[in-house]
Amino acid sequence: MTNTTFASLGLAEPLLRALSARKFEIPTPIQSDSIPSLLVNKDLLGIAQTGSGKTAAFTLPMLQHLSAQQIRPAPFVARALILAPTRELALQIDETVRALSVNLRLRTVVIIGGASRYKQVEGMRRGADIVIGTPGRVCDLMQTRELQLGAVTRFVLDEADRMLDLGFIKDIRRIVAALPAMRQSCLWSATMPAEVASLANSLLRDPVRVEIARKEETAPKIEQFVHHIPQSGKQSLLLSMLQDAAFSRVIVFTRTKHGANKVAGVLEEKGIQVNAIHGNKSQPQREKALRDFRSGRARVLVATDIAARGIDVTGISHVINFDLPAEAESYVHRIGRTARAGAAGTAIAFCDSSERGTLRQIERMMGTPITVVGDAPPPMDHRHAQPKRPSAPGQAQRRRFGNNRPKGGMRSAA
Ligand code: AMP
Repeated sequence: MTNTTFASLGLAEPLLRALSARKFEIPTPIQSDSIPSLLVNKDLLGIAQTGSGKTAAFTLPMLQHLSAQQIRPAPFVARALILAPTRELALQIDETVRALSVNLRLRTVVIIGGASRYKQVEGMRRGADIVIGTPGRVCDLMQTRELQLGAVTRFVLDEADRMLDLGFIKDIRRIVAALPAMRQSCLWSATMPAEVASLANSLLRDPVRVEIARKEETAPKIEQFVHHIPQSGKQSLLLSMLQDAAFSRVIVFTRTKHGANKVAGVLEEKGIQVNAIHGNKSQPQREKALRDFRSGRARVLVATDIAARGIDVTGISHVINFDLPAEAESYVHRIGRTARAGAAGTAIAFCDSSERGTLRQIERMMGTPITVVGDAPPPMDHRHAQPKRPSAPGQAQRRRFGNNRPKGGMRSAA
């Protein structure tokens, strides 16, 4: 532990007051590492997950720079641009920007799909100090010159790995081509596959690299468990878990939109307050689902990967992977919804025989096996890649936290 404070990082007084009001007392490691470099105009490559405090890390120096310059943006002109892969993440960033800029006179405009384009254009009519947007709608407004990027001095690309997963590379290149060469850029990504490294290479000039090592003391305290259970037993296992009040705020991940609706329907029938969030839901529906979940009005949120990316809800007690994700990396993003900002949390995966390969990939990536609760997996019949003796769901549930229950494991999950 160091004695770093926000003041010692070189932040100005109006920002320090906003931080205190927000109850951010001590900088997170990613904030201590990146804020000084960003304040002296360096480009930056940040490798950090949501939950590390990265939003404030890039927002605070941006606010300090923009307010020091005292320039009023011309109509339709942006002075800074933050790009996020999803609408929800853009709205969360906006919330942080607004909270941290309460003592400054800066205008922020959010430009995202699924919301009124007209209102966004009206917002740009007076110019924007900061535009926070998703790539598609930003390109759309650029094309009609209702968003002009020629004066941008600060550029942030958040969650670059997910941007590429979602196929935004062309839009990003178009947007970057419209930015002036003289700017500060920073790129954030939870992972650094070759495509992201190559994008970083083309965007950043001599960047400082900051990284949150996934060391024991910095890794979130997430306890992870897996149930080996056939697909047909998953619903009843979920229902039996939800009888336990310790499952107080739960995200359930499914692989498909249809699956999300189905699970939400089953829970609703049993009187559990639940919402589903996925790509077929309208923006107002998604926002309401998140509001209900945040306020505790809904105890369970059933989500697909894309919809849940970047959801910042504190106090999530359990993340349940009803289906394992198609790619191992999404597992890390999913379980990162719990144990945020130092809290503890539990992630439980339901794994049927067809998902065992993915489970192995996940374990390889995490570098550690995930604790099995309930029955051990039946042996695989390699000729058909099916288990020889599928375990009965009832049996798995009866023994679900039996002798395998680890020290300090499932809280009151009897
Ligand atoms: P982020 O990684 O930006 O999504 O932030 C993760 C969570 O940590 C958010 O809920 C923030 O409000 C919170 N947070 C960020 N910085 C701090 C800090 N210095 N102290 C306490 N909480 C923080």
